[in-house]
Amino acid sequence: MKLSHIGIAVKNLNEASNVFSKLFNINHIPIEEVTEQKVRVGFCHVGDSSVELTEATSADSPIAKYIEKRGEGVHHLSFEVENLEEELRRLKSEGFQLIDEEPRVGAGGYLIAFIHPKSTNGVLVELSQKIG
Ligand code: ZN
Repeated sequence: MKLSHIGIAVKNLNEASNVFSKLFNINHIPIEEVTEQKVRVGFCHVGDSSVELTEATSADSPIAKYIEKRGEGVHHLSFEVENLEEELRRLKSEGFQLIDEEPRVGAGGYLIAFIHPKSTNGVLVELSQKIG
């Protein structure tokens, strides 16, 4: 497992992209819409990992609900694995509570699945596997 990215929930992706491009001194933050999850995301590549800025595109998006409850900020940590299905089976057998029992399509050409923060000391953990 390796750290893939840190997900940050933001109210306004364009404004946040401005801030983070200055912070990391990068010119361009590619933006992608993930309709399945009702979000728009911007990826800031920093060294071997990334910061993923995530904005809700709909009031019933999980990100909108998160910001409503807890405000903007760090939303999840994402770790890349080689075989997501196998890893989900392993974690389930270890007693972790999975939000996604099956991998689903995420941003940036990855399959993703979330583990419930109840099982991981309050931290929302995402596992990802590169497609193809
Ligand atoms: Zn993520």
